[in-house]
Amino acid sequence: MTDESENIIVAKFGGTSLADAGQIRKVADIVAADARRRCIVVSAPGKRDKQDQKVTDLLLTCWHLAAQKLHYREPLSLIRGRYDAIARDLGVSTLDEPIAEMECELRKLADGDESTLATRDWMAARGEYFHARLIADFLRATFVPAGECVRFDEEGRLAPVSYALLAERLQGPGRYVIPGFYGRDAAGRIKTFSRGGSDITGAVVARAVGASLYENWTDVSGLLMADPRVVENPRSIAEVTYREVRELAYMGANVLHEEVIFPVREAGIPIQIKNTNAPGDPGTRIVNRRDATEGPVVGIAGRTGFTAIFIEKWRMNQEVGFGHRALGILLRHNIPFEHIPSAIDSMSIIVSEEHLAGRETAVLREMERILEPNRLETHASLALIATVGEGMNHRVGVAATVFGALGAAGVNVRMISQGASEIGILIGVAAGDYERAVRAIYAAFERAGT
Ligand code: ASP
Repeated sequence: MTDESENIIVAKFGGTSLADAGQIRKVADIVAADARRRCIVVSAPGKRDKQDQKVTDLLLTCWHLAAQKLHYREPLSLIRGRYDAIARDLGVSTLDEPIAEMECELRKLADGDESTLATRDWMAARGEYFHARLIADFLRATFVPAGECVRFDEEGRLAPVSYALLAERLQGPGRYVIPGFYGRDAAGRIKTFSRGGSDITGAVVARAVGASLYENWTDVSGLLMADPRVVENPRSIAEVTYREVRELAYMGANVLHEEVIFPVREAGIPIQIKNTNAPGDPGTRIVNRRDATEGPVVGIAGRTGFTAIFIEKWRMNQEVGFGHRALGILLRHNIPFEHIPSAIDSMSIIVSEEHLAGRETAVLREMERILEPNRLETHASLALIATVGEGMNHRVGVAATVFGALGAAGVNVRMISQGASEIGILIGVAAGDYERAVRAIYAAFERAGT
């Protein structure tokens, strides 16, 4: 796909975009509307409504039941029912044969037959595999088995050879449908990315074919400036950089899988998040560099559930290896850290409560012994809030707006870290103040028209 590569759009459709025949028809219209949409990456059928179950979850339920030699008939018939209904409604062949094969492998698993193919990942990947076959049939496109082209290395990371294999396979005219979420490991077994990983497959395919654009079709019209559960009706983000989106994703804005950026960022391929149910909405574009007119702040993201370990030691700045020893203690307890704001004689290590749970006493005891601090305290129930915007640290008044808003709202700021990345201001507040703080910051920037 060399000469024509400027003309290729890789379009990835998520589970809700493909949850039933009606949704798949919308997808077919979207694909047909632009001849450049040549590589279509699909998820397994997702939820049709709030009460519904994702096919991937049903597959995993089957696997767990079979592995424990329990009956898996019920979830299996739900899976079969989902694909049957879609195939019949769309007028394409049903998937009787591959589903029967899967049932056979499940039976082997339940019987303790070690020759079964049905590992947990193999089962989870069936959802995308079946759906890609069905959709390829409906779109009259070529089905590309991901197991042949997407490879993982010994450490379980994407193997770079995948790019060449995909490029080779996706050569020439026509349209291709590629199942997302899985590939094959170094030993030849089917292996999946983490949940939501079809987004990653889409990014890998985009890079492999040198696409001009990677479209990620989902059920929302792009990223929002703040969590809509906290801020009423937040504005959507028109344009955001890869770096900014990393900061926002890291704090829990889960429209995109957090690993999705890496394959496309290096190749400079923009990502466009679009809504299958409102294809006319502009959505959010993720680019290398954004237009300054968007304003200094693109989003406000945050989360509760952190603890700060505060360590004070006189002349800490002169003690060679102090930070190394402090972090070494966390390493021994297998605890990652989020941030380390520090001062001349003190540092705070912010860790998530989830990682610290059950290990706090041991960690503190070790810190007392090894670091011999003058003061050692933990502050639990902390929320972190990131106000994100590339280059904002150079702008006069951004920090003043954040702190002015928090002061006016009566929120006590417990920690400040204007990150080295110059991409945002991170503050820590008491968990109880979290929502009030996010609303205050959002409102302040909204007023300032950014
Ligand atoms: N079907 C998989 C999941 O539910 C992967 C995906 O949809 O991206 O996690």
